[in-house]
Amino acid sequence: MLDPATEEVIATVPGATAQDVDAAVVRAAAAQARWAALAPADRARLLRRFATAVDEHVEELARLEVREAGHVVGNARWEAGNVRDLLDYAAGGVERLSGRQIPVPGGLDVTFLEPLGVVGVIAPWNFPMPIAAWGAAPALAAGNAVILKPAETTPLTALRLAELALEAGLPEHLFQVLPGAGDIAGEALVDHPGVAKIVFTGSTRVGKRIMARGAALVKRVTLELGGKSPNIVFADADVDAAALAAPMSFLDNSGQDCCARTRILVQRQVYDRFLEVLAPAVESVVVGDPSDEKTQMGPLISEAQLERVRSYVTGDLNTIRGSAPDGPGFWFPPTVVTDTDASAPVAREEVFGPVAVVLPFDDEADAVRLANDTEYGLSGSIWTRDVGRALRVSRAVAAGNLSVNSHSSVRYWTPFGGYKQSGLGRELGPDALTAFTETKNVFISTEA
Ligand code: NAD
Repeated sequence: MLDPATEEVIATVPGATAQDVDAAVVRAAAAQARWAALAPADRARLLRRFATAVDEHVEELARLEVREAGHVVGNARWEAGNVRDLLDYAAGGVERLSGRQIPVPGGLDVTFLEPLGVVGVIAPWNFPMPIAAWGAAPALAAGNAVILKPAETTPLTALRLAELALEAGLPEHLFQVLPGAGDIAGEALVDHPGVAKIVFTGSTRVGKRIMARGAALVKRVTLELGGKSPNIVFADADVDAAALAAPMSFLDNSGQDCCARTRILVQRQVYDRFLEVLAPAVESVVVGDPSDEKTQMGPLISEAQLERVRSYVTGDLNTIRGSAPDGPGFWFPPTVVTDTDASAPVAREEVFGPVAVVLPFDDEADAVRLANDTEYGLSGSIWTRDVGRALRVSRAVAAGNLSVNSHSSVRYWTPFGGYKQSGLGRELGPDALTAFTETKNVFISTEA
């Protein structure tokens, strides 16, 4: 593992083999049977203890994330806290995971929400802790065992979370972490008949592959994939507020965020004013040492990601650019491309770096057309003072997570997921546990 801010080696972690996955599934299945047999209140209590253990180690986990992923320290603390909150929230669902009683003639009809068994969670490197917990916390709460495969570049916080689970009293082998390569450990989980469901967050390319491979076993999948989200600014909005908020909507986590608002669509009559306010806001973003409390943006995760981002911003494009440190580390400055058209790769593909484009539009219909002109549909923002327009456009944009006059999209207690090629299924929110159950219907005759 490399520190992306300095390129120093900070750890080496051996990768799991397919045999390691086999052995882990056997252990997980045994642990799951015991876990599902516990009283709901006991499972809930153990998950709350796990949440408390995470809470007591927020600073340690955050510092580990700064080192291995280059996240700015304030964000990293939020991420560790998010794991704690998810565990607490999921624990609250254990005793509430009830089926239904449905009226039928001649008897009683009831449904049971039964755990799936062993769930595989395959996580990406961009938010290693929260995304691991989005899958693991509700899966455990619903009575499953979890095998988590973190991304190749970011296994350290996941390994630490597994230790904290044990210290908190979770049964051995109920929550296992298997670091390893996607095409070895990841595929072994996908192909394993003992793994009932895969929760995958990552690229659309790998998500499609997992769905195709999983089809051989009719494997359950939740997919959280890429995005190219619009930020739509209407002329009737508080344009200055929209311009000031725009930079961090695509620069947070150095743009390595599936919800990044990287297509800024601005109504033509306020386009110049928007850029006038946006330019100094982008230029003044503080980029540098992620462990410094004042830093707003750190490095990219790796050399490969840096090369990928560079390839989209060719020399002939007009840009607004911020600053970035020289020297070691995978640095790229905040960048807004101002003179491209909607068909250019930088305007269509997920760059996954600190790069956005600004495009003008004429009216509401044009804004909706541009916003939906993408294979993705994860999130988006709408800036307007007209409440009717806010609702019309929210309903018209084909995306799973929209915000009006703000850029928020992820709360652990509201549902999250993508339309179109941004994903399949939903995570988080009040129904999160249900995604880790099978519904069983039982009819009991009263006439026998
Ligand atoms: P990736 O798809 O390369 O890897 C994600 C995970 O899948 C890693 O753990 C990797 O080891 C594993 N993997 C790779 N190949 C595999 C295979 N053949 N079988 C099984 N597992 C395999 O993605 P990444 O580069 O780590 O993450 C960036 C991508 O994730 C971006 O496209 C981003 O938009 C997306 N993302 C989506 C969300 C969301 O919620 N929708 C959240 C975060 C990131």
